[in-house]
Amino acid sequence: METKTIENKPLIHSLSRDELTGIFAEMKEPKYRADQLWSWLYVKKAFAWSMMSNLPSVLKEKLSSRFNLDSVRTDKTEGENGGTRKILVSLQDGEQVEEVLIPGGERKTVCVSSQAGCRFNCTFCASGQAGFRRNLEAGEIVGQVILAANVYGDRPTNVVFMGIGEPFDNYDAVLKAVRIINDKDGLGIGARKITISTCGVIPGIEKLAEEGIQVELSVSLHAAEDELRSKLMPVNRKYPLGSLIEACRRYFEKTGRIITFEYTMIRSLNDSAAHARNLVKLISGLPARVNLIPLSPVEEFDGQASTPDKAEVFTEILGRAGINTTLRMSKGSSLRAACGQLRFRKQNGV
Ligand code: SAH
Repeated sequence: METKTIENKPLIHSLSRDELTGIFAEMKEPKYRADQLWSWLYVKKAFAWSMMSNLPSVLKEKLSSRFNLDSVRTDKTEGENGGTRKILVSLQDGEQVEEVLIPGGERKTVCVSSQAGCRFNCTFCASGQAGFRRNLEAGEIVGQVILAANVYGDRPTNVVFMGIGEPFDNYDAVLKAVRIINDKDGLGIGARKITISTCGVIPGIEKLAEEGIQVELSVSLHAAEDELRSKLMPVNRKYPLGSLIEACRRYFEKTGRIITFEYTMIRSLNDSAAHARNLVKLISGLPARVNLIPLSPVEEFDGQASTPDKAEVFTEILGRAGINTTLRMSKGSSLRAACGQLRFRKQNGV
């Protein structure tokens, strides 16, 4: 298609601020023009070059011939106004991902995808089942945050990388996107309001510790025994619990930042008192929080959420051991649960 060729240009939202400034310098444009464009992109969230009223037309033409402004498009929105909403997002090449908007009190959270599909195949997660297609570019992640800002009518307060994909399997693009949305003259989303969630990819944890950026790190644990965790999360064969917890300990020592462990409670599978005691043993001595989330039933996995009494006993055991624990029993609306249900839709599928 002709339009495809025209649109086959780099995404403007994939440029870091330094890269953008560099390009303007190359074009012999003054630096303040780059700042004006940055502001159009991330403060006013312009979706057309023509909106950028204080930029000269010649410059806008040059930019539009070189860069693509439509990083992502909304294909479909589900959910009610003011409540949790799911957006099916289309990318330039026809791939699709999902994002979830979860408003709550003062919070306007958006859960973004980092990959189209996922390579990790956690058994209870719907995202990996249709396979892996490709990494998202930084601009496609940033674009999801801008879409959320447009739906909220305001910039999101919190961004969580808990949508489709494994952020540390697309490390560079994720970190680049984090820096773009964090920029104080742009969207200005505070690093501490950005959470990266990993299934336990150790090299990513090690790299993040060196970034000098104060983002939140969540590690999806879901089991404190290697055998069970390997069954639920094949990644555990490559990065088993002993080395994973060691990496978390080094992360804490290096950054002073407390890690959150996510633990999805699956009925009769990982929710007994013995499982809770094993979890206590595993993370004892490591400053950490634990988020217990009842499984969100998905058609891809034959399992159910733990019963409330099991979840309470589990919570109590952790609490008595001095571990800061939260349990969210509210079905469906829980943030991680909503994100955990995201599916990668195959192109040309039914
Ligand atoms: N790959 C990253 C981020 C994506 S998943 C990771 O694994 O952390 C975001 C969170 O949702 C993870 O904690 C994941 O284990 C959880 N999740 C996936 N499917 C779920 C389900 N059916 N019910 C509850 N949580 C789920």
